[in-house]
Amino acid sequence: MDQSSIDALRAQDIAPRGHFINGRSQDGETGARHQVLSPINGQPLALIAEGTPADVDMAVRAARGAFEDGRWSRMAPAGRKKVLLKLADLIEARALELAVLGVRDNGTEITMAYKAEALSAAATFRYYAEAIDKIYGQIAPTSGDVLGLVHHAPVGVVGAIVPWNFPLMIGSWKIAPALAAGNSVVLKPAESASLSLLKIAELAAEAGVPDGVFNIVTGRGSVVGEALALSMDVDIMVFTGSGTTGRRLLEYSARSNLKRCYLELGGKSPNIVFADAPDLAEAAKVSAAGIFRNSGQVCVAGSRLLVQQEIYEDFVAEISRHAEGFRVGDPLDLNSQIGAVHSLPELQANLDFVTKAEAEGAERRTGGNRILTETGGYYMAPTVMANVKETDTLFQNEVFGPVLAVTPFADEDEALRLANATVYGLAGGVWTSNLGRAHRMVAGIRAGVVHVNTYGGADLTVPLGGVRQSGNGHDKSLHAIEKYFDLKTAWIKL
Ligand code: ADP
Repeated sequence: MDQSSIDALRAQDIAPRGHFINGRSQDGETGARHQVLSPINGQPLALIAEGTPADVDMAVRAARGAFEDGRWSRMAPAGRKKVLLKLADLIEARALELAVLGVRDNGTEITMAYKAEALSAAATFRYYAEAIDKIYGQIAPTSGDVLGLVHHAPVGVVGAIVPWNFPLMIGSWKIAPALAAGNSVVLKPAESASLSLLKIAELAAEAGVPDGVFNIVTGRGSVVGEALALSMDVDIMVFTGSGTTGRRLLEYSARSNLKRCYLELGGKSPNIVFADAPDLAEAAKVSAAGIFRNSGQVCVAGSRLLVQQEIYEDFVAEISRHAEGFRVGDPLDLNSQIGAVHSLPELQANLDFVTKAEAEGAERRTGGNRILTETGGYYMAPTVMANVKETDTLFQNEVFGPVLAVTPFADEDEALRLANATVYGLAGGVWTSNLGRAHRMVAGIRAGVVHVNTYGGADLTVPLGGVRQSGNGHDKSLHAIEKYFDLKTAWIKL
């Protein structure tokens, strides 16, 4: 990855994009498109098809038809594996192109997008491709006059709705296991970050995924997303996004065909630093990256920092120093450590959180303001808000921006109580040299993942999913594939 290749890719015009249905780009019912702005400079970037319920219907019919005729669903797992491995190779070969395209509409710093988006998508397709011909059914321990077989049957048509922060990474966490298991997929990307996923659909066709098996309908959540989740012919929904939309999906399911909904929602993850942390300097450095990279637009971001009283002031000063040290700027500049906030409304919402926090008595130690306004892009200074109280809006609500809420605690009991004092349960972190305390905190923090003496960075081998109002179900690891199968029993009299 070098700057001149990145600059050459960013200079390329982006042609107006259609949906991807039945193996090809299609304009859809009305041919209408919406304008996508680039967060890098606020300028028009691309025209994306504005989907309608009829477009969703067309995609679901294509997906259902492909599923029923068995062109993919009844292909031997080893055959699907071969195609998906080829797709992984194609993604890897085009990784920089995919990463730059994705950064142009979502604003993530290129160093992160290249690894966590493009290369991670390739790795995810490879992982599930390799897994799929190693998953066995079962023979039940019945009496000798019958045979009970438990099959893994693909569920049928999978509806997937993904957000704008990591479209390729999160998209492939859903598409790869769904396809590997033999399902057809209809995906709706975020309206402001569809470009890189549309490219993946083209690469999937090139790799040999048959027509109709993988479809994308672009457009608004309230139109395309709603129609997909209300469809009587979609068998399960997999979703990453806000709690508000997650609730809606459950309503759509209840109003339609009771499809199962797997929801990865927001978080307000506690990152707890004890005075006995093995290396406080390292804890400050990693914790700063854990909230500020990708401008805090990371669902598992350690957005609530809980610091033990005796080290509180020093630690807040150290993390504020790191916050000020980050180079925020053009996400396609290799020197930038942090890129853009995704959109103007997101930026405004972040700033409003800061204003409200100050009104509620929190202290702004650094940041809290829009920067680089002259670029026309959406950038915000990494922000540290100290002395945030449990009852404050900033303690209780997800910002999804580069805003850290810091709260002191006295002892382990108080740390645990504060850690669990929100409705969320996605991630957490604990920094301590005391092994017993580390295990007690892992057991006590109500979250899908708890990091110890680090924050973030878990790989594909472990599941990611929330508890409480952070959702249900898991992406990543072999566990993720379970939801894309129904268990089917054959009871055979011998
Ligand atoms: P975020 O805060 O990450 O934008 P959203 O839940 O609004 O969270 O968006 C995540 C995804 O959900 C996007 O693809 C968006 O278009 C979609 N979405 C938004 N509203 C709805 C809805 N009413 N029904 C279905 N999908 C929706």
